[in-house]
Amino acid sequence: MKPLRSAAAAVRWCGRTFAQSLKGLGRGVKAAIGWLRKWAGKILSSLKSGRVLLSIAALAVAFVIGIVVSQAWSSDSSDDTPASSAGPSDAETEPTSSPSEPDDESSSTDPPTTPEATPASDPGDRSSANYPPDNADADPVPTPAPVFVVLDQQPQSYQEALEDAARLSRDIVWPSACMSPLPHPDLLPNAPRTYRSGIHQGVDFRCFARGHPAVAALDGRAVLVVGNYDDPDSDKRDLLLDVAAQLEATPPYTLLTLYGNHVVIDHGVVPDVGHVVTIYAHLESVDPDIRVGEAVQAGQTVGEIGNRGTHAAANGDFYTDPHLHWELHIDNQYLGAGLTAAETRFVYTTLFAEAS
Ligand SMILES: [Zn+2]
Repeated sequence: MKPLRSAAAAVRWCGRTFAQSLKGLGRGVKAAIGWLRKWAGKILSSLKSGRVLLSIAALAVAFVIGIVVSQAWSSDSSDDTPASSAGPSDAETEPTSSPSEPDDESSSTDPPTTPEATPASDPGDRSSANYPPDNADADPVPTPAPVFVVLDQQPQSYQEALEDAARLSRDIVWPSACMSPLPHPDLLPNAPRTYRSGIHQGVDFRCFARGHPAVAALDGRAVLVVGNYDDPDSDKRDLLLDVAAQLEATPPYTLLTLYGNHVVIDHGVVPDVGHVVTIYAHLESVDPDIRVGEAVQAGQTVGEIGNRGTHAAANGDFYTDPHLHWELHIDNQYLGAGLTAAETRFVYTTLFAEAS
């Protein structure tokens, strides 16, 4: 029975305690409501004064400004975050460093050391001013080297021209069986050509009639073939030559168009001579077997000699003064450049001394 009594007493005690706590809570709530009423009244009364309204407005403006500034700052820092995380920069620097490592490991010969030396010498080397020093390290793609076409290099000396002519004379054949130009300085290189403010770069083989073949002087390969040349009328040709007069020199492409139908044969690099090229100009027509890239044998017909590209052809006369204009170039310079008329004549006489 005692446990039952004590249990009942415990239930009663719990009930009293709960009731008392409810009463206490009610008193607390009442006190809180009273406190809130009290302060609300004070606030409302103080709101009636303009100072508080102004201060609240100032606080609100300051709050808005603070939000805007904080957002702007957070956006800037978010932009910086990917860059400062070094993701992309690491990706860029790793490829540049990794190719250099195999080079370093492969050998210690000149090719690997040269790329290394260039960035290392960037800070103090003025010769590297053409290279972008910063990008050179980051950009794995090499900068293309500029292409230069050297047309005005130092001409050969008379002795060098003679030696080259002698070496080529062993294999060369006459490009035309028409009149020999050798006794006539005006038909040889370096003769003035006043109508185009230039000098003659080739040899003219005068034929006096149509139907004569031009033949390849050496073995080679056709590199340029113009067989459908359409002569301009005389007035338009003169307009081109007016530019030459203003320049006091024949522009290179004007010189090309004055060739009319023409063929250029590349003879490759001839030992102890250099890169040899021959040109066959003023052709009436090009032989159908002459095609760009095709091999050409010495003595093989290149085309029929005519006068295309000349003043007569510009007037529609394709029969006056047919002749082969022939040039021989060594390393982008016509043979005999810069020589006197007498020297030029002797060089070309040497060139054809053994020609068949
Ligand atoms: Zn000529």
